[in-house]
Amino acid sequence: MGLIVQKYGGTSVADLDRIREVARRVIKTYDQGNDVVVILSAMAGITDSLINMAREITESPDKRELDVLMATGEQTTSALLAMTLKSMSHPAQSLLGHQAEVLTDHCYGNARIVDIRADRIMELLQKRHIVVVAGFQGCDLEGNITTLGRGGSDTSAVAIAAALKADACEIYTDVAGVYTADPNVCKKARKLDRISYDEMLEMASIGAKVLQIRSVEFAKKYNVPVHVRSSFTEEEGTMVVNEDANMESVVVSGVTYNKNEARITLKKVPDRPGIAAKIFAPIAEAGISVDMIIQNTRAGGQTDLTFTVSKADYETALELEKKVAQEIHAEDVFGDENIAKVSVTGVGMRSHPGVASKMFAALARENINILMISTSEIRISCLIEEKYAELAVQVLHTAFGLDQE
Ligand code: ASP
Ligand code: MG
Repeated sequence: MGLIVQKYGGTSVADLDRIREVARRVIKTYDQGNDVVVILSAMAGITDSLINMAREITESPDKRELDVLMATGEQTTSALLAMTLKSMSHPAQSLLGHQAEVLTDHCYGNARIVDIRADRIMELLQKRHIVVVAGFQGCDLEGNITTLGRGGSDTSAVAIAAALKADACEIYTDVAGVYTADPNVCKKARKLDRISYDEMLEMASIGAKVLQIRSVEFAKKYNVPVHVRSSFTEEEGTMVVNEDANMESVVVSGVTYNKNEARITLKKVPDRPGIAAKIFAPIAEAGISVDMIIQNTRAGGQTDLTFTVSKADYETALELEKKVAQEIHAEDVFGDENIAKVSVTGVGMRSHPGVASKMFAALARENINILMISTSEIRISCLIEEKYAELAVQVLHTAFGLDQE
């Protein structure tokens, strides 16, 4: 018996039948003698349609009011689940973000949780109520409604689990857990039983969409073990936990890809101090994040410089660099959107040499050209032509021994 936090995502509460199914799962856990706090997302697609509605009024809707609007998605599902639980003769109560005292900064649309005063939740639990909390929302110190960024109900769940010192934080979704690769791309992908926070962070930031990155950062910081699992089956999912010795023995635990980047090259740039700063300043000022960067030397005091940005920022970044190129007398600027980044991730990399060369050899065997390379302590990424992305994932999956028997 313990205190269990369960979070259900949009497809798990997509309609009243699904909400009844969630109620049954919640009741099962409760009837085993556990205290249960449920965090909910909005019904699948609702947040998008609310945003679209706002955009019909104006291209850039007022941020404060947009958060008030978006938060209604989670308000709806929380009320519906609490009602359903009560109709099934179980004591339950819904709480909105501010009622659960999820306090955030005032960054509308992407607020950070600064504190959770869990008193009200605790009081209800002491009365043996099932507490249903609207995910994705909080309020700032002035009482304005804020939201935590897309996918933010994962973070609500982990933060509430941390604040309550819960015994478990279960994230229910429409996939069975975290896989060694996207099963839609790689038929031989396997579900992982366990993965470390760091691996999950790397994988989340390079394309695996299972958990909001911030929720994993939170889980790591407060050491909350997260169980990612399906609400459509009974099977065990994947535990996201602290690294242990066993994980070190596996060199690579996952292969991911991301088609969401584009690259920009400045050709024949003068090789002088301050030039790179000039190239990246306007991009930074425009709030655009840069991912990979390479600079190579050519003869005659010149270099070529290539970097990647997300596809959404590509046009803006290219325009900005055209201006920069004129100022610094670069010969040419060009870009390419037909690229993909494939990555292998694993904490075992720290203690096993030769991972990079194995990766390059596997790509070479398929004649896949590597355009750029970047690494972290536990990840190697290669930029390749977009059309090879799926093939690259498959061959790397095999090369690193991840295929299912
Ligand atoms: N409903 C919000 C979204 O679609 C939050 C979430 O689902 O986690 O982004
Ligand atoms: Mg989600």
